[in-house]
Amino acid sequence: MDLTLTPAEEEFRAECQSWLDAHVPREWRNLVFRESLTNAEEIAFLTSWQRTLYDGGWVGLAWPRECGGRSATFMEQIIFNQEMARAKAPPLINVLGLIIAGPTIMVHGSEEQKRRYLSKILTAEEIWCQGFSEPNSGSDLASLATSATLDGDEFVVNGQKIWNSYGHIAQQCLLLVRTDPHVEKHKGLSALIVDMQSPGVAVKPLRQITGDAEFNEVFFDNVHVPRANLVGEINDGWNVAITILMFERLNTASLLESQTKIALDELIDTARRTVRNGRPSTEDPLIRQKLAQIYIDVEILRLSTYRSITRFRSGQRPGPEGSIDKLFWSETAQHLFAMAMEILGAQGQLVKGSKWTVDSGYWAYQFLRSRADTIAGGTSEILRNIIGERVLGLPKG
Ligand SMILES: Cc1cc2nc3c(=O)[nH]c(=O)nc-3n(C[C@H](O)[C@H](O)[C@H](O)COP(=O)(O)OP(=O)(O)OC[C@H]3O[C@@H](n4cnc5c(N)ncnc54)[C@H](O)[C@@H]3O)c2cc1C
Repeated sequence: MDLTLTPAEEEFRAECQSWLDAHVPREWRNLVFRESLTNAEEIAFLTSWQRTLYDGGWVGLAWPRECGGRSATFMEQIIFNQEMARAKAPPLINVLGLIIAGPTIMVHGSEEQKRRYLSKILTAEEIWCQGFSEPNSGSDLASLATSATLDGDEFVVNGQKIWNSYGHIAQQCLLLVRTDPHVEKHKGLSALIVDMQSPGVAVKPLRQITGDAEFNEVFFDNVHVPRANLVGEINDGWNVAITILMFERLNTASLLESQTKIALDELIDTARRTVRNGRPSTEDPLIRQKLAQIYIDVEILRLSTYRSITRFRSGQRPGPEGSIDKLFWSETAQHLFAMAMEILGAQGQLVKGSKWTVDSGYWAYQFLRSRADTIAGGTSEILRNIIGERVLGLPKG
């Protein structure tokens, strides 16, 4: 693993920094709750922000030029992600389009699908969601029951999905369905692109522990989907799903590694400002010890993510090792935000809206939000199984 930046990469970093310094809206940097997708004004702002980034040539950096990207290296994409986090820039609203749908269409999609969908992912003209989980199929995804029956040139889709992030604002959904109920469960699945405005699609937001409703239940009642929207081969959806999950884990880890580092810096700053027993809590030996452990974990996370990036840079497709980064990131983030609550004591329980909150309730919000991190995109137990069986080669439990 050699991630020493070349002079060209250093120059690229400087280019990112100066563009972001000039373009990140100042008022946004002071906003505490950056990921709430329930406010129409914020959604409109985030959509226009992605367009601004696109016009500046920063969206889909590592996508090939013929797909609308800049054919930058994956390392340059990582540098850009790091600089976005450092600049406290607003996030990309079409994140699922960019890290899941786009790469999947590039690998498995038809030429027509590439022409039709890719550029609108980059510009955020079409927001994407991912329709995998169902009330009775989460970790055991292959047992999903939403069906798609071929009728002439169309599939007719019936069933229900759940925990569908961005579903309430999405135009397109990458949907995993059962197209053959008579074969082994992994062998009867297919991936479809479904227009969320199609008749028969109903979206019901679900409220989370934070009070926000970022994800949804989605119901499909005789929804007609053109056969041309099949991604990859019919009944080869499991293969498509695995590509999606690998891209998701690789990209999520590399995106979130920098954010975790920034959260750690903020935590240390908060600890310095918080007085416990008459002195800054950073002078409390137990707190210092725990902060040091989190610092070490964040550093391990950085190195582990870099190892995955190195593998990807050397031409290999993302593999099961991405599970290590996702597991380690989500658990480290939870420890970090729980530590913030410990430092703040009873005051940490005050949520946004109260005038007595510390940092406008940021820590309480992140503490609650981070509970989802060890569930979304594969639970910690499932990731440990994958690491045991597919990375370490241990026998199945
Ligand atoms: C914030 C958030 C956003 C999400 N966004 C999306 C989205 O956009 N699209 C989408 O399709 N899904 C999404 N999900 C759903 C997510 O993928 C599922 O929640 C996840 O796969 C777990 O499935 P489940 O909730 O059904 O839990 P279950 O699979 O029912 O698991 C329940 C518990 O049992 C444990 N368990 C299950 N099987 C095993 C096993 N074999 N060995 C050991 N332990 C096991 C699990 O670890 C867990 O603790 C999101 C979830 C969250 C929290």
